[in-house]
Amino acid sequence: MYTVTDPATGELIEKIENATEEEIREAIDRVHRGYQSWRRRTVAERAEIVARAADLFAARAGELAATMTQEMGKRINEGRGEIGVVTDIFRYYADNAEALLADEPLEIRGGRAVITKNPIGPLLGVMPWNFPCYQVARFAAPNLVLGNTILLKHASICPRSAVAIERILHEAGVPEDAYVNIFAASSQIPGMLADPRIQGVSLTGSERAGISVAAEAGKNLKKAVLELGGSDPLIVLDTDDLDQTVRATATARMRNCGQSCNAPKRMIVLAGVYEEFVDRLTEYVAETFVPGDPSDPATKLPPLASVAAADEVAGQVAKAIKQGATLRTGGRRVDGPGAFLEATVLTDVTPEMDVYYEEVFGPVVLVLRAETEEEAIAIANDSPFGLGASVWGTDPERLRRVAEQIESGMVYLNSAGGSQADLPFGGIKRSGMGRELGPAGIEEFMNKKSIRL
Ligand code: NDP
Repeated sequence: MYTVTDPATGELIEKIENATEEEIREAIDRVHRGYQSWRRRTVAERAEIVARAADLFAARAGELAATMTQEMGKRINEGRGEIGVVTDIFRYYADNAEALLADEPLEIRGGRAVITKNPIGPLLGVMPWNFPCYQVARFAAPNLVLGNTILLKHASICPRSAVAIERILHEAGVPEDAYVNIFAASSQIPGMLADPRIQGVSLTGSERAGISVAAEAGKNLKKAVLELGGSDPLIVLDTDDLDQTVRATATARMRNCGQSCNAPKRMIVLAGVYEEFVDRLTEYVAETFVPGDPSDPATKLPPLASVAAADEVAGQVAKAIKQGATLRTGGRRVDGPGAFLEATVLTDVTPEMDVYYEEVFGPVVLVLRAETEEEAIAIANDSPFGLGASVWGTDPERLRRVAEQIESGMVYLNSAGGSQADLPFGGIKRSGMGRELGPAGIEEFMNKKSIRL
């Protein structure tokens, strides 16, 4: 069942039945049929359509943001910001389509060859609720430009975003059979992956969902791109402006109510600045991130996406405290309806506590103390995840030296938790496999065909 429940009020707004097996078969027929003609369009034609999609997303930013606020509680201003990034992603792939898909001549022993860039066929996308539009854009924009077609199963709590995205793409000129939204249950995904016409799958979501989808993809010998969780380290080496560092790092952590895969969830602070950093951070978090109505532009901390999500994060915090962590601020669910949780700072977190190795998908900062740079790097790498990381400090050489020793797919220097259309995004270890965005993002479901001339 797909449901729309306002996380700010708990009000149930809409219920939608899951697709039947018959509807799923028809949807696969459509993307298979759609592929036969979409792949034959010229790159320029597909790019023009994708560019129109960018314009339509920009024009509908207000409506889309309001839908996300209602479905998963996103702050209205953040929703507009998300659509800005979505627009950039569609524009980036439209503008760079010809260059990214140009043939590559290759001198080889005894002759010449050319590598051509071809689509592989209909793909399945399984997408989460935390950035309902951005997550779909990362997958859809490059693959539509390349000539693949898409069957999209969105998260069951954001069906309205799913429908709005499909409508925009069709209005932009993507054929109805080249992008199809399907209200499938996750239990129906194995059957979809077993269909020989589906050539690959991209999933963004939890480890649990990733494991299940990767296993089914493997069983059917299909390519999978997985964008899973993270517990990104943020190392503070030193600072010449503590207030600014605290503001920027706390804001990065609290973005999207802490529900970003690449949020800086573990702040690792060197002893020289630790005490002062923790004091200022606690003060700043407590006074700035006050829970409120997500549709009010002045609100800094919206509800989490669902009551279940808020309960889970509150449970992780309670367990950490029981196991010996120190609660500096927050920690409680807010009384009344809705999925609100106070912004929380925890210190004295040790490897003996569950929370040390877990992902905390909510407005919670863990602050860890390191005596030396080497220890900070060791703590950063002591995680099952390897999505992003960030390093903060005043010496560019030192920042770079630390960045190179971190086991992750991405490192940001003096900024954290960002994403941009032209920069590849993805992780290692249990954060997943493959890359999205940038040139790498269009290559995942590409047949790079070698033609020996
Ligand atoms: P899920 O992983 O359950 O949801 C993401 C998508 O996967 C949804 O479309 C969901 O469908 C689908 N899905 C769920 N289970 C399966 C499965 N077994 N097989 C195939 N598809 C599946 O995320 P949750 O909402 O449960 O969030 C839980 C945790 O996931 C978070 O706490 C966070 O750690 C992580 N997460 C990470 C995200 C990221 O950006 N990397 C985004 C969202 C979550 P349906 O909605 O129908 O269940």
